[in-house]
This record gives sequence, C-alpha cells and structure tokens, in this order.
Amino acid sequence: SGKWARALSILKEFEEKCGTPSSKLKQVADAMTVEMHAGLASEGGSKLKMIISYVHNLPTGDEKGLFYALDLGGTNFRVLRVHLGGKESRVVKQEFEEVSIPAHLMTGSSDELFDYLASALAKFVATESDSQHFSPGRQRELGFTFSFPVGQDVVGELTKAIERAGLDMRVAALVNDTVGTLAGGRYNNPDVVAAVILGTGTNAAYVEHAHAIPKWHGLLPKSGEMVSSSSVPLPMFTASVNVINMEWGNFRSSHLPLTEYDQALDAGSLNPGEQIFEKMISGMYLGEIVRRVLCKMAEEAAIFGDTVPPKLKLPFILRTPHTSAMHHDTSRDLKVVATKLKDILEISNTSLKLRKLIVEVCDIVATRGARLSAAGIVGILKKLGRDTVKDGGKQKSVVALDGGLYEHYTKFRICMENTLWELLGEEASENIAVEHSMDGSGIGAAILAASHSQYI
Ligand code: ADP
Ligand code: MG
Repeated sequence: SGKWARALSILKEFEEKCGTPSSKLKQVADAMTVEMHAGLASEGGSKLKMIISYVHNLPTGDEKGLFYALDLGGTNFRVLRVHLGGKESRVVKQEFEEVSIPAHLMTGSSDELFDYLASALAKFVATESDSQHFSPGRQRELGFTFSFPVGQDVVGELTKAIERAGLDMRVAALVNDTVGTLAGGRYNNPDVVAAVILGTGTNAAYVEHAHAIPKWHGLLPKSGEMVSSSSVPLPMFTASVNVINMEWGNFRSSHLPLTEYDQALDAGSLNPGEQIFEKMISGMYLGEIVRRVLCKMAEEAAIFGDTVPPKLKLPFILRTPHTSAMHHDTSRDLKVVATKLKDILEISNTSLKLRKLIVEVCDIVATRGARLSAAGIVGILKKLGRDTVKDGGKQKSVVALDGGLYEHYTKFRICMENTLWELLGEEASENIAVEHSMDGSGIGAAILAASHSQYI
C-alpha cells in the first residue's frame, strides 16, 4: 500500500542520512585529531575541553593493600573494595555493591546526597572480613569516581559526610570515570594508552606528553580537575605523564552524519547545542533516536494504525536496553520485539514485516553510533602517532573500554571493533587492541587511591 511505501521511504532516507562510509569516518577521525590539538593549545580553543588531570602517580603495579572506591555515574552508584597484591598478583580480590540513588537525592541538596553515599559506604566497610582488617592506626583510603563536571569541592563535601557517618577514611584521589578506567587498565597492562567510556554518556581520556600541551605552562589545577587530593601539583609530574580528560562527548564536526531526528532531539534537550557527539553515540540517547523515527513513521505512514500510540509520544520512554533487546532478537517471529512493543509502548498486533522494519531502525542507529565511536578512537590514536606501524611493529597500543553500552550491547560492540580494524587497516590493527576494563572506573579509582596513599 501507499502507507507502507511511505514507511520504507522514511527508512531509506534515514539510512542514507546516517551513512558512515570509511571515507567519512576518516574525516571524522581527522577532525577529532585537529580538535584535540586545538583544545590542548589554549583554554576554550576547541569544543573539546581537553582537561589536564593531575595524575601525579600513575600506578606502578607495586601498590599493595586494601583500598576503597566510590563510583558515582549517570545512573549507577557502586562501592568497591579492592585488594591489591603488588607486581606478582595485581588485583587479588575485588568486591562491590551496587546501590541505587533515590531520584530526589540527585536533585536535592548535596549534603543529603553525600550523606547517602557515606552511609552506604559505612555499611559496606562493616562487611570487611577478619582477614581484611587494617592494622591499628592505619587509616582506610578511598578513591572517588565522580563522572560529572565538578562544581563544588566534592572531596571536602565527601570527607565531611564520611566523618558524619562515623567512618575514619581519607579521600586520597578524585577522578572522573575515564581517568579511572585509564589508570585501572594501565595497572594491568602498561600498553594501555587511552580509555573510552560508552555508558549512559560517553567520554575518553588518554596519556599525553607534557611537551604536547602548550596551554599547560603556568597553569595551576582547579580544584576538582585533579587526581590527587593535595592541591599543588608535584614537580615530578611535569616531566612524566599527563592524563587528558577529553570530554569528547562535546565534539562536533560538519562531517558528523546528523539527521532531522538528532536536531529535534538536541533542540528539545536540557543542553541544546552541546554534547552533540554524545547524543549520537551514548546509551542515554540511542533508544530515544529510535523512538523519534518510529514516531515519524506512525504520524506519516500510520505504521501502528490510524492514530499514533500515545506512549510512543513520550520522550525517553524507549530506553537503549529495550532497543538493544529488540535488535538482538533471534526468534523467527521476532517475539522479543512484539513483547517490548506491547510492554513499553502498549502496541499490540504488529505484523512480522513491521517488526523487521523496527529492527532495521535499531540497527541503523546502533551502527552509526558504533562506527562514530570507532572513528573517535582512531582520532586519538592518530594524535598519539599510533595509528600506523612504528618500530617494526614492536609498539603496542591498548585502548581500555568500559560502560554499560559497550558491555551489554553486543552488536554495538562488535560493530565498533570491526570498524576500528576497517579504519586502521590490517597491518596497524595487529598492534592495537581493545580491552574490556570491567568496572574499570571504580577499580581504577581504588588503584589511584593506592598510588596516592599517605603511607607510600
Ligand atoms: P553509568 O553510565 O551510569 O556510569 P553504566 O556504565 O553501567 O553506568 O552504563 C549504563 C548505561 O548502559 C545505561 O544507561 C544504558 O544506556 C546502557 N545499557 C545498560 N544495559 C544495556 C543493554 N542491555 N543494552 C544496551 N545498553 C545498555
Ligand atoms: Mg560509570
């Protein structure tokens, strides 16, 4: 019928606009490299903030003992206890607990939120086993992963809340999730040069040479941008490594395949014009892009009947885990798609043909996100001169990845990895690896607490 033809033409147009051939992705990667240079050259020189994280001591691998971490992300909050065994045994044991944060605390006063975090921490500390006890007089130490732009003095706030909870614990390091993942990855593998988070949001961090950061000269760290909780950078770090938190979610370029749906999503968002790369890639948004396309098909091609299903009109009702489940549906009659449509959107009696169309929309959105993520990683490798074979192939580069999207959205992950090899070529690919750094952001914070311990 004419309506079905209209639906197919909307699909086709969407697919074309989302197209990411190699040639385009190479332009995106080049643009990323250019923006990285610009962001390093001067404050405000680029959409990429390229924040210098003052990691005085990246872990050496010698760190030993029991350390804690708090990982506060976009949706999840974890408390972790990590037992480090030094060079021989590395992470001997890791334990964690996931705690959900009541919504009113995310918008209320920060005292309440920090008290909530501290009391969850106190409960977790109480589960230390006998073999884990601290020697008398030794203070417990904590790394804090805080994945938001830091406004107030979060180390001070958390320290006060920890005191109020009756705990004796020192906040030894403050990191964002990418920097934590980078440190954690490097503890296990010294070839790790960059870390990428693909979760609710997306971001990347990497290790840069001091001489490649023109804007660094004379700059003192702003509170919250540093990894150690001491306020002045140690002289030694200027000569060693500098971890750059790119804030790559804010990247944008004329080469990005933006569609009318992305533009509408952005215009209706809390931060229009910002985080454009993130809005095309991350778990917060993929489901919402799919919803917008289905909405247009419902309005203009009546794919769900004469009226648009009311639930389908609700922004963010369709989450990425839902579209991921539909995308991975292997049943012959696409049972999972039918169930999701019914449970989430209250749409029933869909034909198999229509369910296939919906899976295709999911595929287009995920494929574009995955391929753009790969292009971003190639941009970083280019900046580091690691996108081609050097040293007769002896130089290895590893990128640590973490986040719920990467971990659970299998088709996204596989597409991202395949695209990396496609862009890098066979020869260079042999020396480059991606590694899933499980809970890397939390474990990395515990490891950084260790490398910034008052006892070493
Ligand atoms: P955060 O980003 O809050 O630190 P995570 O790294 O755990 O937390 O990522 C959570 C995000 O991962 C969710 O918001 C969601 O977008 C995505 N995600 C979780 N599970 C799945 C899934 N099964 N399929 C696709 N995406 C998922
Ligand atoms: Mg996280």
